[in-house]
Amino acid sequence: MKFRDIGLDERLLEGIDAMGYETATPVQQQVISPILAGKDVIASAQTGTGKTAAFLLPLIHQLLTHPHAQHDINAMIIVPTRELAIQIAETMEGLSYFTDVSSIAVYGGGDGNSFATEKKALAHGVDVVVCTPGRMIAHLNMGYVKLKGLKYLVLDEADRMLDMGFHDDIMKIISFLPKERQNLLFSATMPMKMREMARKILHQPEEINI
Ligand code: AMP
Repeated sequence: MKFRDIGLDERLLEGIDAMGYETATPVQQQVISPILAGKDVIASAQTGTGKTAAFLLPLIHQLLTHPHAQHDINAMIIVPTRELAIQIAETMEGLSYFTDVSSIAVYGGGDGNSFATEKKALAHGVDVVVCTPGRMIAHLNMGYVKLKGLKYLVLDEADRMLDMGFHDDIMKIISFLPKERQNLLFSATMPMKMREMARKILHQPEEINI
């Protein structure tokens, strides 16, 4: 299936072209429509299947075509590791290159943005934040993170986050977020403890198995 047939915004199609994507992968074909329809989604998908673009494309499309808060964070993507945060932020930059949708990666460790740079973006508003749990909580605890307009939450590699002991951190972050929002959860495996967490976070999710 071609991305044009999905009805994505023209500016986004340019980014997709520039990234060299020609047709949607199976996970993209199954996930993009329910996300565009506003549904919560729980998807089992391995790395390498194109899962990152599967949630970024509809997210960017919605931000381009729906009025959204200008000085707020609109979407938060929580991931287990800084490597994954960097990777997603890079894909985000490529896909959104021809748009004015802004994004930032927020993660601990020396090679990223400085804490001050992150703070400025989070306090000022940036459309999409890709973050690791610990670093995000450090910012949230200081009270300046602009979250009132947040509409989208993505948990990527959720099983890995649970294995790494991030359950409580994730629930703490969610306690700061507006209740009215769309939730997307991606995980390679669906163990019981994952389903229990999903039940607490997602509302009548569409379940997709690749
Ligand atoms: P992911 O599963 O998100 O880690 O993506 C795996 C790789 O597939 C990345 O290098 C993406 O840039 C690439 N990719 C994602 N979607 C497509 C697509 N529709 N066509 C070609 N490559 C893609």
